[in-house]
Parts: sequence; structure tokens; C-alpha cells
Amino acid sequence: MHDAGQVLPPGSTIGILGGGQLGRMIALAAAQLGYPCHVFCPGRDEPATQVAAGSTLAPYEDELALERFAEAVDVVTLEFENVPVATTEFLAERVPVRPGSHVLYTCQNRLREKDFLASINVPTARYMEASGPDALARALRDFGTPVILKSAEFGYDGKGQVRLSQATEARTAWEEMRRHAPDSPAIIESFVDFHAEISVIVARGLDGAIATYPAVENKHRNHILEQTIAPARLPHDVMERAEIIARHVAEGLDLVGLLGVEMFVTVDSQVLVNELAPRPHNSGHWTLDACLTSQFEQLVRAVTGLPLGSIERHANAVMRNLLGDDVERWRELAADPAARLHLYGKREARPGRKMGHVTRLQPLD
Ligand code: ADP
Ligand code: MG
Repeated sequence: MHDAGQVLPPGSTIGILGGGQLGRMIALAAAQLGYPCHVFCPGRDEPATQVAAGSTLAPYEDELALERFAEAVDVVTLEFENVPVATTEFLAERVPVRPGSHVLYTCQNRLREKDFLASINVPTARYMEASGPDALARALRDFGTPVILKSAEFGYDGKGQVRLSQATEARTAWEEMRRHAPDSPAIIESFVDFHAEISVIVARGLDGAIATYPAVENKHRNHILEQTIAPARLPHDVMERAEIIARHVAEGLDLVGLLGVEMFVTVDSQVLVNELAPRPHNSGHWTLDACLTSQFEQLVRAVTGLPLGSIERHANAVMRNLLGDDVERWRELAADPAARLHLYGKREARPGRKMGHVTRLQPLD
């Protein structure tokens, strides 16, 4: 399913499915290279629509709106992986969609994602499909304790996940997961005793060229990314293995675009892939301030067929998300010469909501 598309010259319009902060930062990077963006999303006044040249506010199932959107753009990408595959398939009959629907199909479901990783020999935590509370009891017996039950679809920021250690907890864990995702299939994973959580952002161009940023270390609070340390403070061979895995996955998917590969580094230095995000990733925001080419510009380059840019970094970085009320510190952060402040234009600071981020640069070591 190789995408043998043509290079799109500056001035061509990039369509973006999804209206969040990732779309906003894609649109800003695209504008720098002379590409206007047209955002398609269901909500109004979204972070991306505020900075895009055009926008369509409609449900992802609205074929008339999709038809018009396809006519208005030269290529489609996405900033949100839960866009229905039927939507990208509909668009792909009219305009190139990068990454392709097959990538979305694989990454939208944790079971399909892990089956794919297994098929290309990429190690993950042990997993099995969870058909109900009985399967949980079986996994506790076979995998050891604890295990994590996750909805296979529509999970983010830890939503739809329950950790359990005893068979007696199986029924309540199942019900808790179901409350978040009533209809989704479910997966059970062994709990990884990790030394660090890391991620690698990999870009793959229309010509198959690949660029990877170094692995970064991610610290979560309440399952939400709080801080990224770039690069990760890990031995060279672990860093190298993480990049090799990310490349291998991008090639296996025949990706055109960008992929965030989340991984665990275990206490005995194994690198296991946790999940894939076929779009810019929160843990790559540091590249905006510390690298010659940001993850967002790489995506723009990949989907328009331009050569990928240099990933060279001129500084190390620590990126912190501004979650909920954190954003009220904007005055102080704006006055701090060491802080690179990014705000997403969201009006309501709900708890845990990603309102912006701050990157602090440090000398290369
Ligand atoms: P999402 O980011 O979509 O909510 P993840 O699968 O990345 O879902 O899970 C969120 C976080 O929960 C991970 O970053 C990690 O901290 C923890 N976690 C998830 N799966 C496991 C696992 N199998 N073992 C240990 N920790 C896990
Ligand atoms: Mg995750």
C-alpha cells in the first residue's frame, strides 16, 4: 500500500482532522513554510481553528462536509487518532491521506496495535484480549500480579484503565472499565515494572526517508504527562535500541507522517513498546525550541513530500505541561527569560486539561 504521491508545493492546502493543540502547532509550522491549513473538527473555537486559514465544523460522519473539505485541501493529515477509519477512507478516495487509513486502523485499537507489534517482532508487555471478568482471573493467574485492564479503544490519559491484583477485584474492575468505554473491546496487560517511561518521535517522508529524535524520558501524574526530559538519561545502547525500534515500527506501518512510540525501559534494561500515536506527540513539544526542525515541521514536510529536516538539537530541554490551573502562572512564566511559553488558546481551564506547556533549555552535555 505504498503512497507514491507527488510533492505538494508551498501554497498547497493541508487538511487537518482534529482541532486540538496538536493541530494548532501543525498549522503554525505549516504557515512558516507557506502552507495554509484547513481544520476539520466537530467542536467550535478549538485551538487549531483559531490559527488555521480555514475550518469546517462538522461531525466526522458528515459526508457532505467531508466532500467539500476534500475539495478545499491537497492532502489530509490528522492530529487525533480516534477519527473514524470510515472518514479517512472516504477522504482517501478524493485526496491523499497521510498517514493512511491502515495506520489509523492499527493504532486505534490496543489489541490490533499489539498484534501488529508482535507480527514485526517488537516486544511489548504480555497481553490478551479481555472478554469479561473471567478472563481477568485467568490473566492474574498466567501473567502474575498486578495486571492492567484497559479499554482497547478510545483510551487516553489513563481513562478506561484499571489495575488489579486479585481475582476478587475482577468484577468491579470490569465494571469500572466499562463505565468509561461501554462498547469497546478490552485488553489485559501484565504490569511492567519499569525503570523509566520513554518515547521516540519518528518521522517518515513520502520518499521513505526516516528521521528519529532521541528518546526522551516522560514523567506522568494521574496518568497525564507532566514532564519530558530530553534526551532521556539512559545508557547509549538503550537509547539506540529505542530509536531502532521506532524506525522499525514506522517502516512496518509504511508510515508517511509522524509517529510517537511510547515505551517502557524495564529494570533489566529491556525496551518494550507500550503504545503508538500516529501524529505529533506531547513528548515531542520540546523539539519546537531545542531542535532545528520541530516535530510539527517534520510532519508538514513528510505529508507534503518535502525532504525531512535536520533533527539536530542545539540544547537539551525539560518540557512541563501546564495542566488546568497551572496556566494561571502565565504572568510569571512570561516574565521568566529561561522559560519558553506556549499557550493553546483554550478558554476553560478544567482540571487536568492541557492548557499549554513550558520548555526550559539547558546546555548540551
Ligand atoms: P494512554 O496514554 O492512552 O492513557 P497508556 O497505555 O499509555 O494509555 O497508559 C497510561 C500510563 O499508564 C502509561 O504511561 C504508564 O504510566 C501506565 N501503564 C500503562 N500500561 C502499563 C503497563 N502494562 N505496565 C505498567 N504501567 C502501565
Ligand atoms: Mg500513553
